[in-house]
Amino acid sequence: MNNYVEDTIMQRVRYINERVANAKAEDLYYYNQPVTELRGGARVLVKGREMGMYASYSYLGLIGHPRINAAAKDAIDRFGTGTHGVRSLAGSLMIHDALEETIAEFKNAEAAITYSSGYVTNLTVVSTLLGRGDYVISDKLNHASIVDGCLMSGAKFLRFRHNDMEALEQRLQQVSSNATKLVIADSVFSMDGDVIDFPKMVELCNKYRAWLMIDEAHSVGVLGKTGRGIEEHFDMPGSIDFKMGTLSKTIPSVGGYVAGKKELIQYLRHASRAYIFSAAIPPAQAAAAQVAFDVILDEPWRVEKLNANSKQFIEGIKSRGFDTLYTETAIVPVVCGSDETAFLMTQRAQHKDVFVLPVVSPAVPPGLARLRATVTAAHEADEIEHAMNVIETAGREIGLLG
Ligand SMILES: *Cc1c(COP(=O)(O)O)cnc(C)c1O
Repeated sequence: MNNYVEDTIMQRVRYINERVANAKAEDLYYYNQPVTELRGGARVLVKGREMGMYASYSYLGLIGHPRINAAAKDAIDRFGTGTHGVRSLAGSLMIHDALEETIAEFKNAEAAITYSSGYVTNLTVVSTLLGRGDYVISDKLNHASIVDGCLMSGAKFLRFRHNDMEALEQRLQQVSSNATKLVIADSVFSMDGDVIDFPKMVELCNKYRAWLMIDEAHSVGVLGKTGRGIEEHFDMPGSIDFKMGTLSKTIPSVGGYVAGKKELIQYLRHASRAYIFSAAIPPAQAAAAQVAFDVILDEPWRVEKLNANSKQFIEGIKSRGFDTLYTETAIVPVVCGSDETAFLMTQRAQHKDVFVLPVVSPAVPPGLARLRATVTAAHEADEIEHAMNVIETAGREIGLLG
């Protein structure tokens, strides 16, 4: 038992604990807000108060969908709640094979493999594909799970300025032409809502013979006429080698996947450590995820409504005088500047029952603290208008708006 000498562990512990204590003392602590109930896609119960939900990742409002709930319950009746262990050693449930086939079909790919989370998917896939002597070239604003996968792989880790294709090309030119290289980026950036310059990125990967991996956590159900993602959005089928996604956002379950060519997926199934040494998605979650992909295709109005709601929200927030950076999607950053301003905006909004949450450094660059506000297909136009008015009032009261 360490008796708390003042070492580096204790310095780290103290630093975080002091920040938490200070925030709590000022009623500005918004970490892990206690949500006691989800009421449809658009409302939540927080500490006994019903609020409009503007911090959701469930872009199509599928949480609680009757067909998805029924599939999960049925799977529990048939398979119980666990999977015995890893698929290679304990047997693979049909339900997992069916889910992977559904994902492959939805993503217009030959095959797909699932893992227990999106985070683990990026970690294990990047580090299974690459090793020492290889190169990985990553957008500077890529998700933490990508960054961690790149570091873990041992490959040379090169980063380029966010969404800057000239900077990407410079990086590609730095690497010798016969070296193995993987270019990797989010399709839609999780904190900014902007879309990667996909056509140019694909062109550069072809020109410099780089593999391309795209993280579609925020584009499935969001981009493309039928919600299939970025290839559909730009009408460029077959452009991505590794189409990665999560089952925890638009898909109301938990897990992650990669879709691609059969031989690549087969390789991952036999070589990626998160597949070989970690249990599969529980039956209820696998069944829920599978049906959710069907629901997206069967209820196309959801993608259309999300698009309309996003447009209303972006235009409304902008016209009220806020900076929303370069968003084109349901993720709308309301830039506040300092961390304090972001906390104050959150406090004012929540006191008027609009549930938004702040994102501060180090998750975003210092000075670009923001509300990361989102709309979903579950919101109605008048609710969105009301939420925007609340945010506007908050902005005026604390002097963010003139
Ligand atoms: C949420 C997210 C992940 C991780 O997904 P989980 O399934 O929640 O682990 C990966 N990449 C991006 C871009 C994300 O936003």
